[in-house]
Amino acid sequence: MDHGDVVIVGSGHGGAQAAIALRQGDFAGTVLLLTRDRTPPYERPPLSKDYLAGEKPLERILIRPEVFWAERAIGLRLGTEVVAIDPRTRTLTTAKGEQFSYGTLIWAAGGEARQLACPGSDCAGLHTIRHRHDVDALRRELATGARRAVVVGGGYIGLEAAAALRKLGCEVTLIEQQSRLLARVAGEMLGSLFLAEHRRQGVDVRLGTAVAEIVSAGGRVSGVMTEAGDVIPADIVIVGIGIAPAIAPLIAAGGAGENGVEVDAFCRTSLPGIYAIGDCAMHANPYAEGALIRLESVQNANDMANCAVRAIMGSPAPYQSVPWFWSNQYDLRLQTVGLARGYDAEVLRGRPEDRDFSVVYLRKGRVAALDCVNRTRDYAQGRKLVEAGAIIPAEALADTERPLKDFH
Ligand code: NAP
Repeated sequence: MDHGDVVIVGSGHGGAQAAIALRQGDFAGTVLLLTRDRTPPYERPPLSKDYLAGEKPLERILIRPEVFWAERAIGLRLGTEVVAIDPRTRTLTTAKGEQFSYGTLIWAAGGEARQLACPGSDCAGLHTIRHRHDVDALRRELATGARRAVVVGGGYIGLEAAAALRKLGCEVTLIEQQSRLLARVAGEMLGSLFLAEHRRQGVDVRLGTAVAEIVSAGGRVSGVMTEAGDVIPADIVIVGIGIAPAIAPLIAAGGAGENGVEVDAFCRTSLPGIYAIGDCAMHANPYAEGALIRLESVQNANDMANCAVRAIMGSPAPYQSVPWFWSNQYDLRLQTVGLARGYDAEVLRGRPEDRDFSVVYLRKGRVAALDCVNRTRDYAQGRKLVEAGAIIPAEALADTERPLKDFH
């Protein structure tokens, strides 16, 4: 049985960064990085943007060159899916029946794209965007002439995919069951701006209706029927309806959690010697007023990886990173800092029609988050305001003559 003093499960941003940070911190023990993926660690954000649009090849999205892992004595095991954990004997079992023993385990398995469950959803032509091979399969269909695309879900995956598909010349219809776009992650103002932009770019956006049925012909999608009863002809369907955290082996082993595995401020699960990081880790986040949340972002994956490694290497520091995200759609570059949750006011800085503005979210009068569109200055200067929970009158925030650093 192979042994890792630290075994990391999952090769997304969190898992890869944990391995890198261990070696950067001169961790002298053995490190194994086990992943179901068949490709060495790569960046996920380009999958729904330039990788889908065919503008960036695989080599340019690798987190490190392929040789890096062996050079740093990181045992990268591709095609290795962990299905069971025995915390008592500190052993893992894979889908192929192999076993690995560990000293410390870092669970960084992320999540799986949710699939539609309506009639017809098992036919060919439906795609999710989570792994590189998902996008390769989608691109193969585009190469064979698929042109009419229906995108299900108006979160970041759906919107970025819609923008990339328009760039590729596809006809795109987007269906979102909420009454607005980005309902889970951003405020009304931002949702409205992205709605207007996608419509301007020729995307047929249908809000407030879910998918009732996938219509097929000869086992392949031919259309999508909405709950409103419309049938939209389709060659391909992209399903971007969120993720389900990949935590089954941890929960089966007795780990606390439900919609995510619970971790403390040092990314420790309730199981001895097992840490969890990234999309699957449910933690009390100071920027969500201490609420237990999962954060699905590159920032969170990287920073939790560093937090877990510090704890493993004997210099623990609690996870307190300020959340940030970004999204590119057409020529709109969105940068977000903080969490737009539980806010009671949205303040607009600048004019959306100029395609250069920010939305500041206030919670009980304090700056909780900023969504900045083509406005990197506000994003950079607003970060301190979020960290401090600054109290600033709405009129002052709306005054674009005043840079945000004035309020530091
Ligand atoms: P998401 O943010 O959860 O958005 C999915 C949306 O689809 C929700 O508004 C959801 O509504 C809606 N939906 C669910 N079922 C539907 C149905 N049957 N018909 C129509 N609409 C439906 O998830 P995502 O966009 O798939 O993204 C997945 C993950 O990748 C997220 O973690 C996301 O943050 C991450 N990601 C991040 C970026 C970035 O940071 N730039 C880019 C791409 C992806 P309900 O809320 O009602 O379910």
